[in-house]
Amino acid sequence: MIEKTRARKSTKPGAKKKGLKKSGLKKSGLKKSGLKKSGLKKLALKKSALNLAIGKEIWPSEHDVLFRPDRLKYVRKLIRTEGCVFCTAANSGPSLETLCFFKSKHSMAVLNKYPYNSGHVLVLPQGHCGDILSLSSEQFHDLNDLVREVVKALQSLYEPGGLNLGLNLGAVAGAGIPGHLHYHVIPRWTGDLNFLPLIAESKVVVENLEVSFDRLLRYFKARK
Ligand SMILES: [Zn+2]
Repeated sequence: MIEKTRARKSTKPGAKKKGLKKSGLKKSGLKKSGLKKSGLKKLALKKSALNLAIGKEIWPSEHDVLFRPDRLKYVRKLIRTEGCVFCTAANSGPSLETLCFFKSKHSMAVLNKYPYNSGHVLVLPQGHCGDILSLSSEQFHDLNDLVREVVKALQSLYEPGGLNLGLNLGAVAGAGIPGHLHYHVIPRWTGDLNFLPLIAESKVVVENLEVSFDRLLRYFKARK
């Protein structure tokens, strides 16, 4: 039956084409259903929405989604901290409790308590400052020297394929603690933020904070 139906349809392709040309909307069923012009408008809207969706696909950042439920608690302010955690770290020596593993003259390096990836480090001034323009030239250069030192350390210890370096100035720019500016230094590996490793039954290695802290503390103690 199926074969016959197909055969019948294929014998009259010319007739169908002619019919479409003549009657226009008739074949689409729009006249019958009473949609007419308003229906056409809706169709046009659908088409433009589709184009927009296709346009959005050119942004690769929209495809990088990492599911981190523990971080969501932090974002939703379920974990409240007393005072500025960075100032607390600045006022004490390097310790696992504050996750600060190194201090330079004006700056310090701290592990992110809610990392996006293993070895996610924050580099920041010791003083409570949310405005990069308020830093003295010496403080600014000390901060940037430490960013570079941390990159060197992470490359040596973790051998990532690349790193993300970023500074979010102000809450609207995404700063979690806008009053105390901090650079993010995040090691990256191929495929670390997509779901292909899960499908391929291989895992993204997420190192626990104690191990990361110990590795970085040792590195900075041993360096000349
Ligand atoms: Zn602070």
